[in-house]
Amino acid sequence: MGRDNSDLPAIIRSVLFLTVCFSLHCGIFRAAAFDGVLSASVAQSGGHADVALQDTTVGVKPLKLPSSRPEVILPRPALEPVKSFVPSKAAPVDTLDTQVWYIKVILYGDNTWLYAKDPAYIEDSSIYTDYWDGATNPYDMPLDSLPKVWTVWMVDSLSQYHCPYQGKVNPRGKFGIRRGRRHQGVDLPLVSGSPVYAAFDGRVRVSRYVSGFGNLVVIRHENGLETFYAHLNRRDVERNDWVSAGDVIGLGGSTGRSTGPHLHFETRYKGFAFDPQWLINFETGELRHRFFMLKRSYFTPYSSYEQDFEDEFRNLEEDRIEDAEKAAMKYVTIKAGDTLSKIAAANGTTVSALCRLNGISADTVLRIGRRLRVR
Ligand SMILES: [Zn+2]
Repeated sequence: MGRDNSDLPAIIRSVLFLTVCFSLHCGIFRAAAFDGVLSASVAQSGGHADVALQDTTVGVKPLKLPSSRPEVILPRPALEPVKSFVPSKAAPVDTLDTQVWYIKVILYGDNTWLYAKDPAYIEDSSIYTDYWDGATNPYDMPLDSLPKVWTVWMVDSLSQYHCPYQGKVNPRGKFGIRRGRRHQGVDLPLVSGSPVYAAFDGRVRVSRYVSGFGNLVVIRHENGLETFYAHLNRRDVERNDWVSAGDVIGLGGSTGRSTGPHLHFETRYKGFAFDPQWLINFETGELRHRFFMLKRSYFTPYSSYEQDFEDEFRNLEEDRIEDAEKAAMKYVTIKAGDTLSKIAAANGTTVSALCRLNGISADTVLRIGRRLRVR
């Protein structure tokens, strides 16, 4: 979707409008056309090609398309980072039709505008019907059924990208092997209750509580990719809902197997997870490129975007400390007549240590039968 801060004089509007119509005939090149690199993306047989865009009201000069290359070349912006979409704060004031029924131009009160596509229009309708049950992995296919390398458009001019949650990936929550298990996504620590956004336009395939994941939302996108948002405190979308990039799909939290509030975010294709950091720079919030080269080799747990051995050693050390702490933990059950000082003395500890371990204060009333951590 094009977004611009200028208001649109009639002539520009008609050129844009024609660009929509023209580029729709160009299949996958429509994104390039929208991005103002029409000339680079249209294959020509040599020399200059004149594409006459006729308007019924305003005469428009034919576009001169320099095209000395016989083959289609990828437009440069395809491989440049895409900033996280900033939705207009202003209310929409008008909608303009285009000649294509499923595309509208929405005008906002702050003189910005946006192409909007009817989400129910899908070029490949099987995307939202095949393998569409609510399982976390409805696909059951061998890895070698996928090509070695292929490319997908992540966003084009009719769709946007929004960072699901901007922040630093926990060094202990990267894609790869953690404690002998596969960690199929990245962990982004957050303050409980922070909004979590749909990364791309798409349709909600899963919205429910899943053991391990906690409150989980899975969105399938038109290019076949799926994004997973786990451990949510609250889910704001239901299965089969259509979502746009930047929609709040829930609030971050710590449900499921989680030791603290964080977003567990995954990117999968046909059920196979790859490191989302190949796609998104979570620290800057940017999508690394709108044209993404997906490799079968990304689907192994050892194919992580950052190979950081320092992290690995630190993780092992912290795992050891965590294990030792867990092994040393000791609980007692409060009996009639117990006081904090009595329990502290009996277990060789202090009242303040008991308070710290249990999140209580010295004058908390002890409930009989409650378990108290003493070590
Ligand atoms: Zn995780």
